[in-house]
Amino acid sequence: MEERQAERERSQSVLEKQRSFFHSGQTRDVDFRLRQLDALRESVKRWEPQVLEALRHDLNKSEMEAYATEVGILLEEIGYTRKRLRSWVKPKKVKTSKMLFGSKSLIYPEPYGVSLIIAPWNYPFQLALAPLVGAIAAGNCAVIKPSEWTPHTSKLLAELVADTFAPEYVTVVEGAVETSTALLEQPFDTLFFTGSVPVGRIVMEAASKNLIPLTLELGGKSPAIVSEDANLSLAAKRIVWGKYTNAGQTCVAPDYLLVQEDIREELVEKIREAITAFYGDNPLQNPDYGRIVNQKHFQRLSSFLKEGRVVVGGESDPESLKIAPTVLDGVTWKDSVMQEEIFGPILPILPFRQLSEVVEMVTRHPKPLALYYFSEDRSKQEKVLEEISFGGGCINDTLMHLASPYLPFGGVGNSGMGSYHGKYSFDCFSHHKSVVKQTTRFDMSFRYPGSKNGLSIF
Ligand code: NAD
Repeated sequence: MEERQAERERSQSVLEKQRSFFHSGQTRDVDFRLRQLDALRESVKRWEPQVLEALRHDLNKSEMEAYATEVGILLEEIGYTRKRLRSWVKPKKVKTSKMLFGSKSLIYPEPYGVSLIIAPWNYPFQLALAPLVGAIAAGNCAVIKPSEWTPHTSKLLAELVADTFAPEYVTVVEGAVETSTALLEQPFDTLFFTGSVPVGRIVMEAASKNLIPLTLELGGKSPAIVSEDANLSLAAKRIVWGKYTNAGQTCVAPDYLLVQEDIREELVEKIREAITAFYGDNPLQNPDYGRIVNQKHFQRLSSFLKEGRVVVGGESDPESLKIAPTVLDGVTWKDSVMQEEIFGPILPILPFRQLSEVVEMVTRHPKPLALYYFSEDRSKQEKVLEEISFGGGCINDTLMHLASPYLPFGGVGNSGMGSYHGKYSFDCFSHHKSVVKQTTRFDMSFRYPGSKNGLSIF
């Protein structure tokens, strides 16, 4: 009880300090924002060796993977934002309707105020700081709550942020569920949550108490679909890369594979070849192959290995928390591996005969965060894009849509709401204030009750 009260008081005090800094008006100045983005970029570069080390400790990420998916992507986001920010902050003039003849219509982007960013453990560095880029660009203060499951990265984030920003502007609050709960009780001005669907519900309920605008970046079961006319070698390589990077602990990883029946065996063979080419004959011994974040998830994933029939991989090591890249055949929608988001290196396969079955299967389930379709046929590609709703995805590739700052990244329905990256991050942390600047040179009298004249000139 006392602990809960202490957490509450800590959250309250953090918010009050930041709110008072926000009201000082400093964050509204675009030069201030640019200086903060520069400072963040410099810190990320300076701390890079420690970041890579922390990610190795927490998830056994290799240097190459950690740089590409955590550090590099963040630096790219900062650079993209920095270059364009001056034009984004300007009020945008838009057309004025005839009803408003003589006036000007403008949209003023303004910061919400103090934002709360809650991050998950799977890309613990990038997913805490990429939203921060949007928060800073839009002129907000920010409190970041990283995940308790990646303690090395979480601690490093706290140190890096404290070394870069004044705490009344940007700060990290470390802690687990109780910390998150206490923060969520506070009337922040905007919330940005990345994590699971069940916790997303809790966050949204908490936000509703104070009517806080929020963005939810959630998960779900994202399909990869391969038609018989696809380039199978490329499809196999790209699916294997998308699935087993970070040992399958990627929100947009292909969760399961729908494959046209005639090419099923050939595709499985090519997937096996790609796994061996990327991770060697014994992936558990590969020092650069990722591990499962904790025992709880390792046990959960291990139970999936008992379902269907293992056709590739299947080995695991409870000591190193590693599970080999695995393909499961012979599963059904009733198996638990098909009932929940897998979030690990296990790829179940289900066959289909006609594309219409795929549409029926996927649309019967909650809208996925991502979808990947492999086919050389334009009309089939269009059918999938038109008939299935999903957050974002690729034709003939996996994951790549999230690497472009030109594309909004986010879910739909159960997989989330709102989007970010590039300009969409700026928008996500901004209120767009609509303003009509009316002329006083004349007046449209007919709008007033009882008026007879149409126009009065002064
Ligand atoms: P999680 O929902 O368990 O935790 C996310 C954050 O919420 C953590 O900081 C955690 O401390 C906090 N939290 C946990 N329980 C809470 C509670 N009861 N009340 C308040 N806060 C709480 O998610 P996770 O296990 O860290 O991450 C995995 C999930 O995140 C997967 O479902 C994955 O798909 C999703 N994800 C989505 C994206 C995306 O961009 N859409 C990216 C990465 C991960």
